[in-house]
Amino acid sequence: MKIHNTLTQQLEELIPLEGNTIRLYTCGPTVYNVAHIGNFRAYIFEDVLRRSIKYFGHDVIQVMNLTDVDDKTIAGARQAGVPLDAFTRAYKTAFFEDLKTLNIEPAEHYPAATEHIPEMIALIQTLMAKGYAYRSEDGSVYFSVSSFPAYGKLAHLDMAGMRPGARVQHDEYEKENVADFALWKAWDEKDGDVVWDAPWGRGRPGWHIECSAMATRYLGESFDLHTGGVDNIFPHHEDEIAQSEAASGKPFVRYWMHCAHLIVDGRKMSKSLGNFHTLRDVMSRGYTGREIRYVLMAGHYRQSLNFSFESLVGARSALQRLDEFQDRLGQVATGLHGGGLPDWAELAREKFDAGLADDLNISESLGALFDMVHAGNRAIDSKALSAGDAGAVQALLTRFDTILGFLAKPADTVPVEALNLLELRQQARQTKNWAEADRVRNELAILGWIIQDTPQGPKLKRK
Ligand SMILES: [Zn+2]
Repeated sequence: MKIHNTLTQQLEELIPLEGNTIRLYTCGPTVYNVAHIGNFRAYIFEDVLRRSIKYFGHDVIQVMNLTDVDDKTIAGARQAGVPLDAFTRAYKTAFFEDLKTLNIEPAEHYPAATEHIPEMIALIQTLMAKGYAYRSEDGSVYFSVSSFPAYGKLAHLDMAGMRPGARVQHDEYEKENVADFALWKAWDEKDGDVVWDAPWGRGRPGWHIECSAMATRYLGESFDLHTGGVDNIFPHHEDEIAQSEAASGKPFVRYWMHCAHLIVDGRKMSKSLGNFHTLRDVMSRGYTGREIRYVLMAGHYRQSLNFSFESLVGARSALQRLDEFQDRLGQVATGLHGGGLPDWAELAREKFDAGLADDLNISESLGALFDMVHAGNRAIDSKALSAGDAGAVQALLTRFDTILGFLAKPADTVPVEALNLLELRQQARQTKNWAEADRVRNELAILGWIIQDTPQGPKLKRK
């Protein structure tokens, strides 16, 4: 399996550092609100990556951190007037619900930053003892970028214009503002009761040190693979490398992978443009986790993905086509074994695997799948598919679904017909066509569904 390594900017064979296990760190959510579909694009990419590593025969230990203390969570808790842990708890719960909705495989570890403060303090102490970090007048601790000559190797920065000794307090900053960054932020009035004691003074960790400390705690000082969105390359991942390698004296991570942005209707997603969607917003419009998973997965991870509601409609019909094919296969297969893959299915298997192994070229894999559906339907039409061979094709689809995670229909999925009716009712209501809305409601009732109007929009529940 080859992947594109941001560090070397090359396609490289993914080979474990030790044994057969790939140790993977994936930057997780900052739990100050519910995640939006752009966040989930990255988590879906990481899910496909994780599943692919296993598909090609390796084991995976994945860590995804939960950032529950940083500039944003503290500001959110303060605004809501609740303690930090109470504020973040609700968003942690929502995050795990959303992962389930999208059929994202759970990671092995989900460490929360607030539960690993001692590890962060120890790491900062090591950096201070080795001369890579210093305490400023106010009791904050900064990483001295000029003490680490390799700084900039991930983001491929030209450090010539750097201003030595300049400092940046905030967790996020631009490349033009390369400067000593905060490992520890001295207590400030706006931190309220969010504070820990450290040998150099009271305060809280910076965002970047959280990931270095938790990655090392669960995966060791050197591990295989670290991922995130392109936004994370600088400064977050660059800073992680500097902190970790300065402290341990060892290479931190061998392979780095980053997925591109998600754009909405061709534009950057933003609240002011009104095209900012959380997963929950999209679901409240009647789309399923399965359909959203399909859309978020369908493009190459290194190309920006254009999300639109038309693409969800496209996903719905693509999934319908896949469901129909699986139903037809089921009618031909008798459960008897002894069949083999017909040539067209064998070809699909080869292409599917080749696509994945080529830096997760999922478009090629999906192309192979739909070519197979086309050929398979023709074989069924002309009665050229034996029961045994149909069973072998079913088994192949099960194998594909270990990557795709959308072929098997979730047990309690609302069927497409019911969702279409729900949409029809929404349209009727919007045009104040109450008679039509009632008619559709009755039709849904006949199908066994009742509509519940919730603050997140209408939902279907089984009668
Ligand atoms: Zn991180």
